[in-house]
Amino acid sequence: MTHKPIHIIGGGLAGSEAAWQIAEAGVPVILHEMRPVRGTDAHQTEGLAELVCSNSFRSDDAETNAVGLLHAEMRLANSLIMAAGDANQVPAGGALAVDRDAFSEAVTRKLEAHPLITIVREEVSGLPPEEWDLAIVSTGPLTAPSLAEAIAEHTGADSLAFFDAIAPIVHFDTIDMNVAWFQSRYDKVGPGGTGKDYINCPMDKAQYDAFIAALMEGGKTEFKQWEGTPYFDGCLPIEVMAERGPETLRHGPMKPMGLTNAHNPTVKAYAVVQLRQDNALGTLYNMVGFQTKLKHGEQVRIFRTIPGLENAEFARLGGLHRNTYLNSPTLLDGTLQLKSRPGLRFAGQITGCEGYVESAAMGLLAGRFAAAERLGRVQPVPPQTTAFGALLGHITGGHITSDDEPGKRSFQPMNVNFGLFPPIEAPKSEGKRLRGKEKTVAKKRAMTARALADCRAWLGIEPVREAAE
Ligand SMILES: Cc1cc2nc3c(=O)[nH]c(=O)nc-3n(C[C@H](O)[C@H](O)[C@H](O)COP(=O)(O)OP(=O)(O)OC[C@H]3O[C@@H](n4cnc5c(N)ncnc54)[C@H](O)[C@@H]3O)c2cc1C
Repeated sequence: MTHKPIHIIGGGLAGSEAAWQIAEAGVPVILHEMRPVRGTDAHQTEGLAELVCSNSFRSDDAETNAVGLLHAEMRLANSLIMAAGDANQVPAGGALAVDRDAFSEAVTRKLEAHPLITIVREEVSGLPPEEWDLAIVSTGPLTAPSLAEAIAEHTGADSLAFFDAIAPIVHFDTIDMNVAWFQSRYDKVGPGGTGKDYINCPMDKAQYDAFIAALMEGGKTEFKQWEGTPYFDGCLPIEVMAERGPETLRHGPMKPMGLTNAHNPTVKAYAVVQLRQDNALGTLYNMVGFQTKLKHGEQVRIFRTIPGLENAEFARLGGLHRNTYLNSPTLLDGTLQLKSRPGLRFAGQITGCEGYVESAAMGLLAGRFAAAERLGRVQPVPPQTTAFGALLGHITGGHITSDDEPGKRSFQPMNVNFGLFPPIEAPKSEGKRLRGKEKTVAKKRAMTARALADCRAWLGIEPVREAAE
């Protein structure tokens, strides 16, 4: 039986993976890619799945690294991006890095050779026409302007961000709560709050002065040509604020007003760094107002001088770049489908994930959901204990909304990380509780073992049998 095709707009990491998954399920695909007819500010070639910057898929360690786990799940799910990556690997220690041209050529050849895939080199300048019924938009962070405008118009003007100022996110269990304390400013309960919604890190004058000096001196990343977007005053990088005067931050995001140090109530902090819960699980906290273009290494070095964050581990570091992404938790359902237009799905970085592998993973899921719909089957969503499910959950609803700043979107793009997974107890070793690094590693191993078992079950793959004793 022949099926009506599914249309995909954008043949990047996500669109290429989605096309492969749909075609492998036996459904025809028409893939619309605008290059070389029209280029972007970052792409250099006309190849599908071009890597625009680094050539790394990051860690390939599936036991103790979340992106390594995502690699493993994608391999289980017959991912084209992972197969082409594995076949074109270059030496990179524990990371999976690829020969970018050979990788892109391999993906392009596979898709061109597939009997169910047609590739059309054209720009789609508006929302997919209704007669396409099932379609996936995977046009990435540099979506061509006319399509971006059409999406913004359909979804509401504040639903598509074009400028992305991101603040670092910290793993809660690495914050020293013997120094920091929970309290909302003036104990304000607000709608949906408790009065203790923020984590506060206190600074005295000497610590504050040293911090401001470090911000001013710290190495900054240079803006690339395509990043020539002006700052909005509401999201100035902290180092730019510090340059406006040493007291600026103390009267802005670091103001100490309305806060009493629970560990030292009689001493008023000179400045306070606040962190706000970032995901529904409460495992991640973002540094409020701390968008920055300091280099990543500098962020780690300088932010670890903040009292309470000396051992902080960062789920994501801050940055400032152009990005186009939907307010997905509001707009998309659990299968990446636009609630206001059933049949139209989004995939890749435009959904609010970050990174090559994450983008491809969301293409894989969107492809599977769309193919199942065309075939009249039900494709359950992956369990939240898997890397697929954890990332999908973040995109389609795992974050919390910002009740205290109405109108401000709180959903921000993120790489896959262990903070997105439901917590798990660290196993004991010979009946004894583990501590420190051993405990962290044991927890990660337990999480990834749980994820791979659940991913196999979700995909209907036989569980791996332990070798007989
Ligand atoms: C400058 C830059 C550097 C980055 N560096 C890295 C990095 O080093 N490592 C990392 O992991 N991630 C990086 N990212 C983030 C992200 O992983 C990549 O952008 C990734 O390519 C996203 O995959 P995607 O499939 O969503 O989009 P893309 O891979 O960008 O694919 C989108 C495709 O859609 C096409 N397209 C756009 N509009 C239309 C239209 N209207 N009609 C038809 N086709 C259209 C584009 O030509 C493109 O081929 C970077 C992002 C940017 C912008």
